[in-house]
Amino acid sequence: METSKGSRIERPVPRSGIRDTLLLDQGYQPLRVISWRRAICMSFLGKVEMVAAHERPIYTVDREYAAPAVVRLLGPYRPQQYVIRFSREGVHLRDRYTCQYCKQRLTRRELTLDHVMPRHRGGPTSWENVVTACSPCNLHKGGRTPGEANMRLDVEPRRPRWVPPSRAALGLEEVPACWRDWLPRH
Ligand SMILES: [Zn+2]
Repeated sequence: METSKGSRIERPVPRSGIRDTLLLDQGYQPLRVISWRRAICMSFLGKVEMVAAHERPIYTVDREYAAPAVVRLLGPYRPQQYVIRFSREGVHLRDRYTCQYCKQRLTRRELTLDHVMPRHRGGPTSWENVVTACSPCNLHKGGRTPGEANMRLDVEPRRPRWVPPSRAALGLEEVPACWRDWLPRH
């Protein structure tokens, strides 16, 4: 494989997720999805070993390299090294599928995302500004802050340190076939 700061490696194919890499811990449990570039870097640093490769290799000017599909950490997992990607599913998981305003626990389909500081007032889409809300609460709050709407947030939203690795939490709708052996079935 070749790193050279990515300049010699072609852009990945556009199909989403197909060139991402599933990171396993030492005991072969799925941890998270990282970019294949990151996986290659980690492999060069001796931090991971390649477990499976994507079908399509990475082409560079002079040769081709296996694209890492699944890699396994050779050392202990230190979650604080990894920044958990913001995702709708991640927010719902963090909030335990519970509306943060009325505390109702609902199914994924009944839940929405609420920007605590509304988007049109500059509120970012981030772990710290987005919470799980049911539709009635979201509608009631509208373009207001919780204070203005006289609604209470008991828990200040934060970036989670850890999200269980369901397929959805890994941030993927479509899972590459070569990952299936490693993922829990849910
Ligand atoms: Zn609610």
